[in-house]
Amino acid sequence: MASGSAIRGSRVGSGPVRQSERCEPAPRREVQYWCANGHYLEVLLAADAPPPVTWDCPRCGLPAGQDAQNPPGKPRVEPYKSHLAYVKERRSDADGAAILDEALARLRQRRGEVG
Ligand SMILES: [Zn+2]
Repeated sequence: MASGSAIRGSRVGSGPVRQSERCEPAPRREVQYWCANGHYLEVLLAADAPPPVTWDCPRCGLPAGQDAQNPPGKPRVEPYKSHLAYVKERRSDADGAAILDEALARLRQRRGEVG
């Protein structure tokens, strides 16, 4: 019975290519990608393999696409907001009134406990 140890560690495409095995190189093609930050990268892919829609930009980590005019990740231009900024944004006048109401209710409740 095959133990499988012979197969393990000899994955196709990994490991150094021995001189005796250097024959016809697999057909390759260059696929261009652009990320939202304007980084351009070329990826060598097997000619018969469909190129992935996006490729992570090695420089900034954003997903890069093959359309230079419309790179992916661009809609995510919303600036980073801190939690405090969100809280401040939520604290409208109406919220202020609600907080006041809540405080008054707590006050009445306390009064009720005492009386
Ligand atoms: Zn980039």
